[in-house]
Amino acid sequence: MTKYVYEFSEGDGSMRNLLGGKGANLAEMTGLGMPVPQGFTISTEACTRYYADGEKIGDDIREQIVDYIGKLEELTGKKFGDPENPLLVSVRSGSRASMPGMMDTILNLGMNEDVVAAFAAKTGNPRFVYDSYRRFIQMYSDVVMEVGKAYFEELIDEMKERKGVKDDLELDADDLKELARQFKEEYKTKIGSDFPSDPIEQLFGAIRAVFRSWDNPRAVYYRRLNDIPSDWGTAVNVQSMVFGNLGDTSGTGVAFSRNPATGEPGLYGEYLMNAQGEDVVAGIRTPLTIDQLKAQNPGLYDEFQEIVTRLENHYRDMQDMEFTIEEGKLFMLQTRNGKRTAAAAFKIACDLVDEGMIDSKKAVSMIDPKQIDALLHPQFDQADLAGATPIGKGLPASPGAACGQVVFTSEEAAERGKRGEDVVLVRLETTPEDIEGMHYAKGILTARGGMTSHAAVVARGMGTCCVSGLGDITFGVKSFSLGGNTYNEGDWISLDGSTGNVYGEAIKTVPAEIGGYFGRIMEWADEYRTMKVRTNADTPLDAQQARDFGAEGIGLCRTEHMFFEPDRISAIREMIVSKSVEQRESALAKLLPMQRGDFEGIYEAMGGYPVTIRLLDPPLHEFLPHEHSDVVALARQMNMETIALEAVIESLHEFNPMMGHRGCRLDVTYPEIGAMQTRAIIEAAINVQKRHPEWDLVPEIMIPLVGEVKELAFVKKIVTDTADAIIAESGVDLKYLVGTMIEIPRAALTADEIATEAQFFSFGTNDLTQMTFGFSRDDAGKFLESYYEKKIYENDPFARLDQVGVGKLVETAVKLGRQTNPDIKLGICGEHGGDPSSIDFCQRSGLNYVSCSPFRVPIARLAAAQAALANG
Ligand code: ADP
Ligand code: MG
Ligand code: MG
Repeated sequence: MTKYVYEFSEGDGSMRNLLGGKGANLAEMTGLGMPVPQGFTISTEACTRYYADGEKIGDDIREQIVDYIGKLEELTGKKFGDPENPLLVSVRSGSRASMPGMMDTILNLGMNEDVVAAFAAKTGNPRFVYDSYRRFIQMYSDVVMEVGKAYFEELIDEMKERKGVKDDLELDADDLKELARQFKEEYKTKIGSDFPSDPIEQLFGAIRAVFRSWDNPRAVYYRRLNDIPSDWGTAVNVQSMVFGNLGDTSGTGVAFSRNPATGEPGLYGEYLMNAQGEDVVAGIRTPLTIDQLKAQNPGLYDEFQEIVTRLENHYRDMQDMEFTIEEGKLFMLQTRNGKRTAAAAFKIACDLVDEGMIDSKKAVSMIDPKQIDALLHPQFDQADLAGATPIGKGLPASPGAACGQVVFTSEEAAERGKRGEDVVLVRLETTPEDIEGMHYAKGILTARGGMTSHAAVVARGMGTCCVSGLGDITFGVKSFSLGGNTYNEGDWISLDGSTGNVYGEAIKTVPAEIGGYFGRIMEWADEYRTMKVRTNADTPLDAQQARDFGAEGIGLCRTEHMFFEPDRISAIREMIVSKSVEQRESALAKLLPMQRGDFEGIYEAMGGYPVTIRLLDPPLHEFLPHEHSDVVALARQMNMETIALEAVIESLHEFNPMMGHRGCRLDVTYPEIGAMQTRAIIEAAINVQKRHPEWDLVPEIMIPLVGEVKELAFVKKIVTDTADAIIAESGVDLKYLVGTMIEIPRAALTADEIATEAQFFSFGTNDLTQMTFGFSRDDAGKFLESYYEKKIYENDPFARLDQVGVGKLVETAVKLGRQTNPDIKLGICGEHGGDPSSIDFCQRSGLNYVSCSPFRVPIARLAAAQAALANG
């Protein structure tokens, strides 16, 4: 028979998967002999069973729980429902990972009218008993029956008003008794039956509520954001009560063993006397700081301090603890590794190393790579932010804080940005043509689009703050309305790209501060990781930024991004609408020096590190003019009739451009494009190599969207013929590599053949995901939400690599590719290259490097080190 229930004394800290974080730590503290009110934990497997059994608690599990109540009665010498000596318990949820959004704790369970009356007489403290009782009814109704807590608060406020008092503490026993009565009445009105008086019935109601809360929308959303699988389930802790509300020598509090905001050593916390449970955090009275406890009760403070030190030494990390004092006696109710700001995380990790508590490997492993982002971008001045109220909230699309004057067009943003003004670009959504304006804006706000929309992806790549998908915005003529106010061009607003908050005022920002602690941890990370970290960069500026963040090369340079610059778009348009090879070659000749110049800049910025340049990839029509005036202008420039040009544009229309005439297909139809790009890549490399004889430049030319080895061979021949001729003529001994993207499932499945023609593979997991799932990144936002709701998918496969399906293609390609060519270089260049869980997958799959946008490079360095340590 499976064991589903464990006394605290039966478990320990290593049983986190089974007992949840809270349960495992209660067991561990029990084992350490600390003062923990005793109880038992119902395992996460019981929760999984609950769902497997159609949301029912199986009879065998029920029996075990009842059995353990018996054991707890014996242990405490109290009895469930016994008026003379009642066992009262708390019911607390706790999953493997700490998860806000789960069910609230229920305290004082086991009370009913009989218990209350006898207990009041016995303790001689009816005020305490009725206070506990009314709290129990309130919490139980709210949590178990979902009656809603607002009405209970109203009743309390009414009572205070009637009595002419302000503070909860001024209500006497009779008032609280009356409140309890009113609460029960409310319960009956809403639910249609009496408030349960049988403690066992109360207990199972509470346990079911914990299991149910695992699947409430808040919890589901939180899991998706944090990569927590839904089959983990939650444990339930049933623990005998201790009372912080027994009078003035009782109290409750929370404390951290170090400052969670700064990382400074020393106890940090708050407590309240004569209070219970969450009173401290709920802010019903102003709490005292932990220092005041030292003055109030030095003996107890010392005892607490000693426990804190022991816990830190034991867990070797900063602890976040909850405690209760019952008539002068200290009880520990929880401990866990405390959440902390990014700055504190780095300081604490380094301090722990210096204190000899952990080694540098542990320091590298204990920092959440996602937190790094916050350190690399400007933040709001905390004092200035304190006085501000958000006017709306969108998606936290790209982190950092921004403050500037509202502009509505990319042109305006670029013009004013170049003058050194701070502007925020506000758009319905962004398109590739907005790139320049996005670059010069301090922040970007869009009404439409999700976390992987154009605005979000581009902004993250640039490291520009972005809030996307704020649907409440309505646009006027050069104005927008939000939160009941209208903002005109030139008005100041502020964005928080880490929370999604938008403020209708200027809030000061302070630049990112990458301190010494950060540097130390990153140095250790670089020592431990085995995968290289490259960057996706299209301009020398991005390349430089990425180098500053520690990139060791470029994994993807997208040549097309260079074509959107205003002075180039006309040349590329000319190339596209060309009718003959000669015409096209003459247009390409105009592009050649521009591309060569770009590549020289990029090689220079990368200081000799490897650079992978991808040949032209997107469907050609993306470059064509849409505005009639642009069409007319282009026609004039090319000496064409407008009508004839319109016909060309029309002919380029595609029904499904993402699967249309793009990638290497462009070079198959127009080999002169690939030839020109190869020339630019090789000539630039020769020029830069001459300038830096100490470097050993080996450009990597990447052919996109290959699905068949013959297609790769055809385009590769264009590349090698061109490159070899130029190199021979130059007299410089330049090596270069030719490889391909693996982004079409057919390429992955035939990777053994593809590898005969490729010196490297780079997994283009954006397209690979798109083509494997059969839906596009740009359209998926419309329906993925329904898939999450219906539990078909748990998260966005474009943000987190689908290790089951897409992952199988990657693994297949790795295996087949190495079979043919054991020296083949393998990397990833999709958005996933900067996602920690995907990076872990890359490590396990045996890739040589990951490549990601510049601002994610430090995240990738840390995540790669963690992956190496975890899988080493
Ligand atoms: P959360 O996960 O939201 O922190 P907890 O389960 O830790 O919820 O419970 C919240 C608070 O309830 C605790 O900090 C503690 O003050 C109080 N509490 C829980 N169980 C008990 C108990 N057995 N005796 C006294 N107080 C308790
Ligand atoms: Mg807690
Ligand atoms: Mg692609």
